[in-house]
Amino acid sequence: MAIKMDGKALAEKMRREIREETARLSRRPTLAVILVGEDPASQVYVRNKEKDCVECGILSQGYRLPEETSEAQLLELIGVLNDNDLVDGILVQLPLPKHISEQKIIHAIRPDKDVDAFHPFNVGKIVTGEAGFLPCTPAGIMELLKEYQIEIAGKECVVVGRSNIVGKPMALLLLREHGTVTICHSKTAQLTDQTRRADILVSAVGKVGTITGEMVKDGAVVIDVAMNRNAEGKLCGDCLYDEVAAKASYITPVPGGVGPMTRLILMKNTLTAAQAHLDKEKKPQERFAP
Ligand code: NAP
Repeated sequence: MAIKMDGKALAEKMRREIREETARLSRRPTLAVILVGEDPASQVYVRNKEKDCVECGILSQGYRLPEETSEAQLLELIGVLNDNDLVDGILVQLPLPKHISEQKIIHAIRPDKDVDAFHPFNVGKIVTGEAGFLPCTPAGIMELLKEYQIEIAGKECVVVGRSNIVGKPMALLLLREHGTVTICHSKTAQLTDQTRRADILVSAVGKVGTITGEMVKDGAVVIDVAMNRNAEGKLCGDCLYDEVAAKASYITPVPGGVGPMTRLILMKNTLTAAQAHLDKEKKPQERFAP
């Protein structure tokens, strides 16, 4: 039976570390969180982010805008936040109402405040392997793999899902750690042939039962990213948990695996942004002290 990778416990440890770090700064980091419209799931996500901020010693500035907010108005707010030296990170909760281009909004956030790491500048840095913000969910998964001392170099890594926020950056981070990476998607022929080769299998599809026991190699590490509701309305992942756990060596539960880590990486990115901004504010002689 697989060992459960406890994202909740690791997130708690990270929370303590971030709180200690923020307490050492000359001012508290600030995260601006923008929510447009009344989507109930987004409201829950935003509330959780604001709660995480409080627990990590980060100030959150909430902007609740009505559904009919225009693209120009949202761009104007982002411009104001970009220019505010006391704002370290800007997060626009997605999805946005249909009349607002998500791409335009993502492009408008200053890359040094883009704590979600969605701006093409930050995406480019992930591709080239330069230091910068890492996208929250894949970076959280990398922390979990590190915590459980899972070796990635030379391993067959199969990522199911190719979204810009999970699948693609996940594949890049595994490649960066020298995994041999395959990306699968809805047009992949014979998905089982691919998943059965995986030493590390990451599923980010969003459909209950996508990964069954027979699709998993004995001893594989299985990371279930998805957050689905089953027929009884209970939160669950892509994997048929019991049969996959019977084959795997490690598995992330849903809930309590990837989700808590995603939330803490956002806090870590905000702290990193604040540290960089505070460093810039220092006088040159302080920055270059012998
Ligand atoms: P998404 O944008 O809908 O992407 C889903 C991906 O799955 C697509 O690339 C799609 O392929 C692929 N896919 C769909 N059906 C498939 C099939 N039968 N076989 C193989 N691949 C298939 O979703 P996302 O934003 O990446 O999120 C994925 C899941 O993770 C969702 O359940 C979401 O709620 C969850 N999530 C969790 C967290 C967390 O913190 N735990 C964070 C983000 C997302 P195509 O590209 O060909 O359409």
